[in-house]
Amino acid sequence: MLDTASKAFFHTLARSRALKRLASRYGMRRPTSFARRFIAGETIQEAIEAARVVETRGMTETLDLLGESVTNLEEAEAATRAYLRVLETVTASGIGRNLSLKLTQLGLDVDKASAVDNLRKILERAEPAGFFVRIDMENSPYTDVTLEIFETLWQQGHRQIGVVLQSALYRSENDLRRVVALGARVRLVKGAYQEPKAVAYARKADVDAAYARMAKTLVLDGTSPAIATHDPKMIELTRTYAREHNIPADRFEFQMLFGVRRDLQSALVRDGYHVRVYIPFGREWFPYFMRRLGERPANVMFVIRSLLRESA
Ligand SMILES: Cc1cc2nc3c(=O)[nH]c(=O)nc-3n(C[C@H](O)[C@H](O)[C@H](O)COP(=O)(O)OP(=O)(O)OC[C@H]3O[C@@H](n4cnc5c(N)ncnc54)[C@H](O)[C@@H]3O)c2cc1C
Repeated sequence: MLDTASKAFFHTLARSRALKRLASRYGMRRPTSFARRFIAGETIQEAIEAARVVETRGMTETLDLLGESVTNLEEAEAATRAYLRVLETVTASGIGRNLSLKLTQLGLDVDKASAVDNLRKILERAEPAGFFVRIDMENSPYTDVTLEIFETLWQQGHRQIGVVLQSALYRSENDLRRVVALGARVRLVKGAYQEPKAVAYARKADVDAAYARMAKTLVLDGTSPAIATHDPKMIELTRTYAREHNIPADRFEFQMLFGVRRDLQSALVRDGYHVRVYIPFGREWFPYFMRRLGERPANVMFVIRSLLRESA
């Protein structure tokens, strides 16, 4: 699990155009196709249907219109317009108003100022409508700039935004103290990307130990903390720590990915905890899907079985 070699292997595969073409052809075409295990569908309607199911199970959700690493401003503007349409459709549907997005989807690789403008356009519509917007954290070359953009917007008075910190990075415990001091909302994750040893722990045990320390800080001092993990040890440790410090269950939430550990999601709801499910959707699902395979190579067997069914 979280083994560096497997992550590296899947990150390399994620760059293969041939594999992307093949996956795009088969991954979504039937209700049972393999990509649907982790992705709600290619359309906003499918994401809304998934969100309704999540809400029926007593949980909330955040919707992520998949896309990242756009290479020109036209694509970034198209992604921005697409997010504005998502805002309207979600508002009309009556489901929870909570979105996640990535800055490279809004053009960060092309021009930082344009990416910030695009984010502002989204926030100008999202905030009056009562949406919360989480800026996902991408790989380490983007950590500084993501936090800088987040903090600038925060200083300018945007309060319905939140950020993500990854326990895999050495720097994150310092970043956590800084963001918690602002009173801003943090989602704590282990980190989905293949990172160099210069910036990140190579051993899973070290990533987990940092996660445990950060989860405690966050639950004790954070504003609406989000403990985003499927790791039963991290979840149990958070529950125990909260109990010992008389922190009520409604002061924080657990977050999990669509299609991962649904049993654990339901068990937490039964025990009185808030659970939010991250629901990704859209046509650009391939890199996200490959990260999920890299986290748990056993998922590859599931893909192979499903492909064999498709071709039968
Ligand atoms: C709501 C949410 C938002 C996230 N946002 C970001 C982000 O912005 N930036 C970022 O870098 N990362 C993000 N991640 C991903 C995160 O960094 C991890 O890569 C991912 O959650 C796996 O780590 P884990 O904490 O579940 O622990 P692990 O130790 O990796 O896994 C613990 C257990 O969870 C189960 N599990 C974990 N992953 C899978 C999977 N793919 N398929 C099936 N079972 C699995 C297995 O049972 C495994 O034993 C997010 C995760 C969540 C839940």
